[in-house]
Amino acid sequence: MSEEGKPERWITETLYDSVQFSFKADQVIFEDHTEHQDLVLFQNRIFGKVLMLDGVTQVTSRDEFVYHEMMAHVPILAHGKATSVLIVGGGDCGLAEEVLKHKTVSNLVQVEIDAAVVDFSKTHFCDFNQGVMEDSRFELVIDDGVKFVADTARKFDVVLVDSTDPIGPGAVLFTPAFYASIKSCLNPGGVLVTQNGVPFYQPDELSQSITHFSKLFGDAFCYIAAIPTYIGGHMALGWATDNMSLRTASVDTISNRFECAGFETRYYTPQVHQAAFALPRFIQNVVDSSR
Ligand code: SAM
Repeated sequence: MSEEGKPERWITETLYDSVQFSFKADQVIFEDHTEHQDLVLFQNRIFGKVLMLDGVTQVTSRDEFVYHEMMAHVPILAHGKATSVLIVGGGDCGLAEEVLKHKTVSNLVQVEIDAAVVDFSKTHFCDFNQGVMEDSRFELVIDDGVKFVADTARKFDVVLVDSTDPIGPGAVLFTPAFYASIKSCLNPGGVLVTQNGVPFYQPDELSQSITHFSKLFGDAFCYIAAIPTYIGGHMALGWATDNMSLRTASVDTISNRFECAGFETRYYTPQVHQAAFALPRFIQNVVDSSR
């Protein structure tokens, strides 16, 4: 029972069959079954606003900065000359906000399957996506990411797959056909970064992506970040490019680019950038055995 005598509501993430993580929902703000998935937004004392889709935590207002900064700034600053960026998924628009901090990016296309997630995030996550919709460099396409990359003739320097896990509408975003289409819409030397789960719990998710990447790209790897919401230790961000030098750029090079970019971060630093590619042995083994 809560202090007001109301029954407490706990919302459980159902991603794993043997381990579950529950949040106390101090207030359920919004609950809906969209055209594509079940959506619930609630308030939690520690994580702030929490968004779950189909029972899987997507984003929280308290720790979104870790995931979004690491997904945006590592590839863009490693690339060094990125002007065009594609986001697949990313409905809460927190990743778009980080990408648009790079004034060198002249166009950002985001392809999200579920208009309801974007609409509702405009209201409920405006603390971290404010300004995205008004930015003339931003173009939102409501479509299946798989269809978009298969059909488009446009080319990008950086492609970011900010997807749900490989269940529901996100399953197609982990397939070899999807990665092959992305390869065709990358400019030479471009880089793909993907949400690749928590290797401690989901080694197969990482392993399968690395296997697919290695058939298409010269460099198939991942880097890591510790995001409190995604329980189980490090989260893996998949990395695929034909430019073998991108992931070994020196801290000095990255620091110069970061200084020129001229914005503040809360997790990302050039040192963290470089260290993120140093994998703990058990994750390195997954990568090595998958290529
Ligand atoms: N950071 C999150 C995580 O790893 O838990 C991902 C967040 S973001 C909200 C994921 C988005 O991917 C959702 O808005 C979902 O609608 C979108 N999505 C899922 N399948 C998709 C598809 N096939 N094409 C485009 N967007 C898709």
